[in-house]
Amino acid sequence: MAPMTLIQLHIADKSYPAAGGNPPHQAIANLSLRLQPGEFVCLVGPSGCGKTTLLNILAGLDSDYQGNIQAGSASHTPKIGYVFQNPRLLPWRTVQENLELAQYTPDLQVIDALLATMQLSAFRHTYPERLSLGMSRRVAIIRAFAANPELLLMDEPFVSLDAPAARQVRELLLSLWQQRPHTVLFVTHDLREAIALADRLVFTSAAPMQIVSEILVTLPRNQRHLDEKIEDFRQHLLTQYACIKNLL
Ligand code: ADP
Ligand code: MG
Repeated sequence: MAPMTLIQLHIADKSYPAAGGNPPHQAIANLSLRLQPGEFVCLVGPSGCGKTTLLNILAGLDSDYQGNIQAGSASHTPKIGYVFQNPRLLPWRTVQENLELAQYTPDLQVIDALLATMQLSAFRHTYPERLSLGMSRRVAIIRAFAANPELLLMDEPFVSLDAPAARQVRELLLSLWQQRPHTVLFVTHDLREAIALADRLVFTSAAPMQIVSEILVTLPRNQRHLDEKIEDFRQHLLTQYACIKNLL
């Protein structure tokens, strides 16, 4: 059976107009991306290449571009969740209240299960200012899952965490995703992180952003907690696909 399509995106041109003395900037040119239901895709590209711009377009936050987004089924637009680069929790609401606000119908059972998986049950009544950055990022991830999206967009959600914290949140994210296999489009500039997470890697160029290469991660998931396996696979990619070397 041919793989189904959840969503298909084509951006012919995304340019930011000149502003404040800066010249116009073409961020994305001629980029097509297709996402299949349930797959975990990592978009890997250099800083400033247009990754956040792409997610904002997919999320419907930016409609100022040439191109189109098509749902796989004409009768059904997938529900989208978005984990921004910064957690953006409401400071005057507790963790639990932040999560309830994300749900169309508050469902404490779902929230309880998500908090438990992310090891945050003890912090449900805590205010965001009392959380570490790693905890805030975990809450932001739960908030996106709490609305039960079909497509989850994640914008470098582990940036500025130290390596052990990033690894912990990554493993918690994977256990959430395995319980609730949503389609994920995860943006990162860290190839090791991408190999640890993805079914498929999509490499993008510097501005204007285009897709340079798409590679399936064949490293079995049960070996991805081993740093040396990740490193071996990374070396294999760099040897096999010379074109991605310049992007990292
Ligand atoms: P990335 O997420 O890959 O780091 P962005 O999508 O944030 O990149 O930005 C891509 C390019 O577009 C950058 O050169 C950035 O300066 C520019 N850019 C982003 N947002 C705006 C904006 N609102 N106005 C003008 N230029 C922008
Ligand atoms: Mg960005």
